[in-house]
Amino acid sequence: MQTHNLGYPRIGSQRELKKAAEQYWAGKISLTQLNQAGSAIRLHNWSLQKKAGIDLVPCNDFSYYDHVLDTSLMTGAIPARYHDLMQDKQLPHPDLLFAMARGYQKDGYDITAMEMTKWFDTNYHYIVPEFTANQQFSLFNTKVLNEFVEAKQNGIPAKPVLLGPVSYLLLGKEKEPGFHRLELIKKLLPVYIEVLTKLEQAGAYYIQLDEPCLSLNLTDAERKVFTKTYEEIKNKLPDLKIILASYFECYGENLFTVLKLPVQVLHLDLVRCSGQLDDILATDFVHSRTILSLGVVDGRNIWKNNFETSLAYIKKAADKIGKARIWIAPSCSLLHVPCDLDLETDEKVLTPEIKQWLAFAKQKIDEVVTLKQLANDENSEVANTKLKENITASQNRKTSSLIHNAAVKARVKAITDADAARQNAFSIRKEKQHSALNLPLFPTTTIGSFPQTAEVRTWRAKWKKGELTQVQYDELIAKETEKAIRWQEAIDIDVLVHGEFERNDMVEYFGEQLKGFVFSKNGWVQSYGSRCVKPPIIFGDVSRPESITIRWTAYAQSLTKKSVKGMLTGPVTILQWSFVRNDQPRSETCTQIALAIRDEVADLEKAGINVIQIDEPAIREGLPLRKENWQAYLNWAVKAFRISASGVKDETQIHTHMCYSEFNDIIQNIADMDADVITIECSRSQMELLDAFAAFKYPNEIGPGVYDIHSPRVPSQKEMTQLMEKAKAVIPMEQLWVNPDCGLKTRGWNETKAALLEMVNAAKALRQQVTVNA
Ligand code: GLN
Ligand code: ZN
Repeated sequence: MQTHNLGYPRIGSQRELKKAAEQYWAGKISLTQLNQAGSAIRLHNWSLQKKAGIDLVPCNDFSYYDHVLDTSLMTGAIPARYHDLMQDKQLPHPDLLFAMARGYQKDGYDITAMEMTKWFDTNYHYIVPEFTANQQFSLFNTKVLNEFVEAKQNGIPAKPVLLGPVSYLLLGKEKEPGFHRLELIKKLLPVYIEVLTKLEQAGAYYIQLDEPCLSLNLTDAERKVFTKTYEEIKNKLPDLKIILASYFECYGENLFTVLKLPVQVLHLDLVRCSGQLDDILATDFVHSRTILSLGVVDGRNIWKNNFETSLAYIKKAADKIGKARIWIAPSCSLLHVPCDLDLETDEKVLTPEIKQWLAFAKQKIDEVVTLKQLANDENSEVANTKLKENITASQNRKTSSLIHNAAVKARVKAITDADAARQNAFSIRKEKQHSALNLPLFPTTTIGSFPQTAEVRTWRAKWKKGELTQVQYDELIAKETEKAIRWQEAIDIDVLVHGEFERNDMVEYFGEQLKGFVFSKNGWVQSYGSRCVKPPIIFGDVSRPESITIRWTAYAQSLTKKSVKGMLTGPVTILQWSFVRNDQPRSETCTQIALAIRDEVADLEKAGINVIQIDEPAIREGLPLRKENWQAYLNWAVKAFRISASGVKDETQIHTHMCYSEFNDIIQNIADMDADVITIECSRSQMELLDAFAAFKYPNEIGPGVYDIHSPRVPSQKEMTQLMEKAKAVIPMEQLWVNPDCGLKTRGWNETKAALLEMVNAAKALRQQVTVNA
């Protein structure tokens, strides 16, 4: 029996990589210094894993930005728009890498960045490879080789990790018509063979090829490409030992293909898919010589492993195929969890009782090693002490009064269908809302946040450090809110917002005021490049001890006669952007959050707020990886939203907001959410998204974002009128709102003011036109 790890967090336990990269971009440190920072992180991670007793330690899991982008650099898949820059500037590879990730706007160049998208169902973003019809590949960057040599020189039992060739192609995009990217495998494979040969020559005996696309629904043709590719690798490199890794889901209908691939080790994510172990052990796979890597330690969540459960899997497999054919591992790369729980020393933040239920990357490495000890030697005293501790912690979690709240559980049980439905259908609500709100055609609004300037953020920092008193801080927030209200009135926006100045982050702000959530001090996880997030931890039953948003919303409303829109984060988004407890179904946790938000909605209504927005930007990204699981998810997710939104009278208008999603395939479910108004991102795609809503005859009101808030560029009134004309051509104008495509918190005031003024004028021009034509 052996242990291995699929990948370790690359950002550094103190976010050293983030700091070094950002300093390098700002010209404050040299490339040599950046490389030193990278090398220090790698060495630290490797030594830690080796010392813990991991038999095969991953290398090339490190990256200065993203491992998919690294693969593009390795294979020379560099989009043409960078070629002149490369030539003229003789850019060192790290600079080219950063230019591809972030764009290059200096020295007379204006090259756009490559696109970024979510890595499967995680919050990690990768840089999407770009392919052309006559795409060429050649070995361009040898980082994988360099890191392997570096690891070996440091005495590390290293295993190079590479994104597999088929998944690499599938994760990319065709940049011109007329071909399918998988056809490129013929040209790509020789580069992989060259790299693998070089690694073998350098002394690598095991190489991990990640093919996470094997967790998706594939066509027969796609499966065939997998078969051919791996047979070809075997032909060319008969002695190389390949570890094939997929994760995040079952192999599903790909399993039959996978079991036949000529690889030495097959990795299983038993956290996401425990059932497939039985499936495999029931086939004649048991008579083969392939090793099974059992991914029993959760690489996606921060809970301590349940040793008894994991040992049961290991034993089941060992009984059938023998211990020699079993490896123990985390379920996937540990990229998705924070580095080290030992750094959480503030007992007021993370109490010892909660801390004993958790494990971050470093602790998970120890768990993998302990599981091997326990499986190998039932009598090991050290290991058995750890087993006892583990059992105590998990029993204690099952019964802890911190976690379990009988009233919350009872309330979830008592939910009826009526709780998830408004009193009347939209057609009736619409009339009542129109007379209550008295809005013009093409009403204008924004998505919630106004610029979170450096100044606003300093207030919060000072208040948290005790340098500002609560009273002083509140006064500053009140002034800023009042300014925002006055300014919105001045430019004549129809439905105002309070500006969200009091909020750090749309999930954290709510999590901090709900029971059942805790926050780590240092639990950072890479989101993209140097950007990290610190997800809240939902450890227990969720309840709302007191109202969360009434104070600032009601204050803003008291300043104006116009409607101020209450602003809440929806249950699915709160769930999606947190580490969620694993001792009950996600749907149950989501429903508990929904009830808390429902109470907040009711309180807002009581406080005289007649428009309330419940943001659900994450509803689509929560979709399971396999289509056969979509409906079950959508059923509970949509219901959770409806529970949060349905406790109000017909006159109260519920908005929701979503961004950066492909809505086409879930449009029915979006309609089922039954929000009175939905605001969505549309401006980047020039309203293409609206086609889905139009074709579907989306019944409720809709605000297609008329400008992209992710850019400081100020759009003109004319551009926005034109976009709205496009919208009007496919959707009845009585249903249309005019708004930006997302919150404005990352923008400065200057561009925000200029853009919104243009936007209001665009709406007015549209109204005028209607009157003229009438
Ligand atoms: N109300 C939030 C804001 O304006 C919505 C943010 C989002 O869609 N991610 O900031
Ligand atoms: Zn948004």
